[in-house]
Formats: sequence, C-alpha cells, structure tokens
Amino acid sequence: MQQPANLLTLKTLLSVTCGSLMALSCSADTPNETSGDALEPWQQAQKTEVWEPVPKKVEAPAGGAPSDAIVLFDGSDLSEWEGENGGEPTWILKDEAMTVARKKGGIRTKRSFCDVQLHLEWRTPKDIEGMDGQNRGNSGVFLQERYEVQVLDSYNNKTYPNGQAASIYKQHIPLVNASRPPGVWQSYDIIYQAPEFAEAGELETPAYVTVLHNGVVVQNHVEIQGTTEWIGEPSYDEAHGCAPLYLQDHDASVSYRNIWVREL
Ligand code: MG
Repeated sequence: MQQPANLLTLKTLLSVTCGSLMALSCSADTPNETSGDALEPWQQAQKTEVWEPVPKKVEAPAGGAPSDAIVLFDGSDLSEWEGENGGEPTWILKDEAMTVARKKGGIRTKRSFCDVQLHLEWRTPKDIEGMDGQNRGNSGVFLQERYEVQVLDSYNNKTYPNGQAASIYKQHIPLVNASRPPGVWQSYDIIYQAPEFAEAGELETPAYVTVLHNGVVVQNHVEIQGTTEWIGEPSYDEAHGCAPLYLQDHDASVSYRNIWVREL
C-alpha cells in the first residue's frame, strides 16, 4: 500500500535525527536500535541504568554519628532521656558515660521511634566477684520499650544461650558469642523494623531485627515473636505505634555511651 507523502517525510526526518544523535533515546523505530544485538555494549548497558532518585548526602565520620543521626547520648548530658516512669533519669553521668543506678529503674528516650538503625556502646562491670549467669552485668536494650536485645557479661559466663548477650531475650540465640571481657567497651549496631498492626489491633507484620555485636553479625533479620517475657511465651497482644527506646536496670552497674539513632 502506498504511504502518504507526509508520513514518509516524517519517517525520513526521524531516521536522520536518530542517526546523528546517538546518545538520545529516540521514538522512531529504526532497524539498528530495535535489535538489542545491534546496539553497542555501552548502549545496552544504559538500558538498565537508573538515575533517579539520587541518594541524599550523609557525612559519616569514622567512629562518630552520621550527620543525619539523632544523637541520644554523646557523654555530655541526659537531656534526651527520662526515668522509666517519667521524670528525671536516675542514672549516673560520669566520664562521658552513663551508668545504671542500681534498683532505681531504667531510662527511656523522650522521643518515640519506629524503624531505626541504632548504635550504642556498653560496658559491664569489671568487678565480677561472686557473680555469674544472669546476675553478671545484666541490662538490656528494649526496642519500642518491648523487645529486648540482651546486654550481659557473656565472656566466660555460662547461662541459657537464648538469654546471653546479643540474644533476642528468650527468642533467638546469637549466631556466635562475640563478647569482650568485663570492663571493656562493646558495641551494638541494630537494624530494627517495627511491627505493623491493622486498624482493629491485630498483627499484620511482626518486627524484624538484625544485630551486630562488636561488628559481628549475631542476629540476621530474625523475626521477633512478640513482647519480651521472662516467664511464658511472647505475643503481640497489644497493638502499638512508635515508642521510646528503653535501657534496663537489672541491678548491675552497666554503662552506656555514644548512642545515636537513624530513623529509617
Ligand atoms: Mg536484660
């Protein structure tokens, strides 16, 4: 069938334009560009390049908090914290660290969080005379005030493995024991995905957590089965939204420093 003259003119024009501007994507179908084999390798490679969105720049100094982090404790004050029942935090601020005031309660952040990357450093007491098992350097990092990453002196200290340092208490045994000796600073880097609840309150998606203990992966995206329980089974009985980070007083003089969080 004979094509109208104006359509032929348009095809000729597009063909010339595509041939001379190789780098531009072109809507005209020419034999060379519809066949992937006929494209130069760099042109084929371009087809899978994604240029948007461009990630936001973040300064990441060695050993320090990234520029987009919320610093919860830098050693100077406890202004981001309150007592576990509200009011002033009871913990002791000394030598750029904060230490549990035994039997005076835990502390929690004034802010609430959902999905986070959390960094903190902790140290159990050097003096372990007469203490073992769960009594040696017990504290804990409670995500959303409910789900505990155990803090314990687990350096040559036997206890049930789902309750040792870096366990998700009574739920997940750590993959390895990366503990340092008592009195030595250690770190946790925690990536936490909060649970999601439906309008009526039932669980839609459980929480997941990844934990690095002293830079070693010890929990790899494990499912949290519900609130941390000392006795009985965990459950998601109570729906909740974003909630504070809580540090436990378990009657041991555990210290913390360099705490920062990034909301994900
Ligand atoms: Mg504990």
